[in-house]
Amino acid sequence: MAEADRLVIKKSGCMGCHGGCGILVHVANGKAVKLEGDPECPNNEGWLCPKGQAGLDFLYHPGRLKYPLKRIGERGAGKWEPISWNQALGEIADKLTAIRRQYGPWSLAAGDGTKLDSVGWVADLFTWVFGSPNNFGSGRAQCFRPRRVSGLWTYGGYFMPDYLGNPKCIVLWGDQPDASNHNTILGINVLKALKNNPKLVVVDPRQTNLAKRADIWLRLRPGTDAAVLLAWLHVILNEELYDRKFIERWTNGPFLVRTDSGQLLTDPHGAYLVWDTASGQARPADLVVKPALLGSYEINGV
Ligand code: SF4
Repeated sequence: MAEADRLVIKKSGCMGCHGGCGILVHVANGKAVKLEGDPECPNNEGWLCPKGQAGLDFLYHPGRLKYPLKRIGERGAGKWEPISWNQALGEIADKLTAIRRQYGPWSLAAGDGTKLDSVGWVADLFTWVFGSPNNFGSGRAQCFRPRRVSGLWTYGGYFMPDYLGNPKCIVLWGDQPDASNHNTILGINVLKALKNNPKLVVVDPRQTNLAKRADIWLRLRPGTDAAVLLAWLHVILNEELYDRKFIERWTNGPFLVRTDSGQLLTDPHGAYLVWDTASGQARPADLVVKPALLGSYEINGV
């Protein structure tokens, strides 16, 4: 058998999302013929989501864009002709240079979708090199950064569900972790946790796969997520279902809030104050004080 005819299995990584799942690519006659999950990859342990499994369709799809196309005819007419990379890059560079000369670099804005490593440079680096601060993306405004910042402010870091800690209840809110390893939340860990039969609550207008096996499937009306969350928080607070020691020590839950401005109360050095139940006075939050979580207090006329 000639070398080229032999079936070769090569290790690779899927770039379908953030998951970075390991894949084994079966190659015959120089062509990839089959994909399977790499059992040695800790991210997916041999598992591949539907998107990963469809990788060959993506690779060999006849409609896949593999070279630059230039519109010919009217916009919207759907007529294109292939051009060389040199021509494409040259024309784009000429137009961007003319725009920068006429309107200045800030006239360029570029955005991308979720911050996959493979496309992040489009908005970030390119606009920076061009001289424009105008780059944007859903990862910055609606997704990753708000999560990161809210985690930092309330929890001290990036929070991740502890699926491997044998949870008794799992809540999936508009989420399909069995379908992809999004944002490093490894779907395989959710599937492992579900083997121990925790209570499963799925909040989703659609009947997803996991909604079918959920103990409670909440079909929200669009736009009512916040109301449901506030209702849950109301019950959690009123029935003291939270981890009090954790809230006292590791969150800003005990910080005093000024009723006149809604801002957190600080001492003259800027330290956040809590009400210390042991000494009966406001003190900077530290590990010694026993902070109150609820109550109203008057402190120096505030
Ligand atoms: S979760 Fe799916 S799409 Fe994402 S890297 Fe893994 S196999 Fe690819």
